[in-house]
Amino acid sequence: MTANLLDFDLEGLATFCAELGEKKFRATQLFRWIHQKGASDFGQMTDLAKSLREKLEGNACIQGLPVLSQHESSDGTIKWLFDVGDGNAVESVFIPEDDRGTLCVSSQAGCAVGCRFCSTGHQGFSRNLSSGEIVAQLWFAEHFLRKHLNTGGERVISNVVMMGMGEPLQNYQALIPALRIMLDDHGYGLSRRRVTVSTSGVVPMIDRLGEDAPVALAVSLHAPNDELRDKLVPLNRKYPVGDLLDACNRYLEHAPRDFITFEYCMLDGVNDLPEHARDLAHLVQHHAGRGVSCKLNLIPFNPFPASGLVRSPQHRVQAFAKILSDAGIVTTVRKTRGDDIDAACGQLAGDVKDRTRVDRRIAQQRMIVLKPVPAESTKEG
Ligand code: SF4
Repeated sequence: MTANLLDFDLEGLATFCAELGEKKFRATQLFRWIHQKGASDFGQMTDLAKSLREKLEGNACIQGLPVLSQHESSDGTIKWLFDVGDGNAVESVFIPEDDRGTLCVSSQAGCAVGCRFCSTGHQGFSRNLSSGEIVAQLWFAEHFLRKHLNTGGERVISNVVMMGMGEPLQNYQALIPALRIMLDDHGYGLSRRRVTVSTSGVVPMIDRLGEDAPVALAVSLHAPNDELRDKLVPLNRKYPVGDLLDACNRYLEHAPRDFITFEYCMLDGVNDLPEHARDLAHLVQHHAGRGVSCKLNLIPFNPFPASGLVRSPQHRVQAFAKILSDAGIVTTVRKTRGDDIDAACGQLAGDVKDRTRVDRRIAQQRMIVLKPVPAESTKEG
């Protein structure tokens, strides 16, 4: 069977090379060609022996995801819809800012968690993405953007947030190699502080992530107590708020940052009242007698019809933020980006993952399979 080399972290690629009878150090060269130069054709890899290239041609491929559509916002945000087969598609969103370029990456087609405010949750779960399918989003976006923005080979994506479609910690086996590829100096070389896994609170896997790949952690909290969180994030019935905050404190022993980011989607009349803000401040400052070192990120809800929910008015978001700030908690209100292209990353999924719409798009759109990005010059990146 032909192996897709996007599936392998460096260790996995070294094992693969060894199975082909090649020295393990060849894996490093190959890994750089793939991830640092965006190569998809073994013929481009001129510093690899011809015999190795021939072996690779017969046993391996570098297979990205077909791009179904690409939309660019007036603010520079770019959203891609990738085909992952069987009528499923996932999205990635690039968000440029003055000091960084962030890619929001999907980990699953659909999601089984079923958060009330999330369109993906309403669509149900289709399947886990492979490591290669997770990495393919970054591989494509990085090398497309270098050309599109004419950077002369300079890196564009400085931050990755696993905040697209899916619950990454429910696809743990695929997530870990993908994170390792992002962090590897021979891959994308991103620091652990600049890669964020966002979870709705899969407590045992938070502990494992702390051991295996302790990157920055964002937790979708959305409520200050179990009664309300049970309704908004069904996983809370299995892993209640107290257990989740305990896991956050354990994670902080490994984390690259000394805080957890709590995401809080602001829902009109549901979780956005002053008493919710006061309860939230009390919770994160006093849980188990010591609280959790954290920042709060308030997210404007992006409404979709099936939710029956409404975005909080601006004045209530501001009042909520003030209560938290006055309590001494660093609080931000997430800017909405790419509104004109329905980017919706700020809502942890948004209405872009409606599978009905995706099916329709797949049926109607001419499939745009962008050509693999030609490798940049032979200089290693
Ligand atoms: S918010 Fe995240 S965990 Fe919740 S249903 Fe949506 S994708 Fe799944």
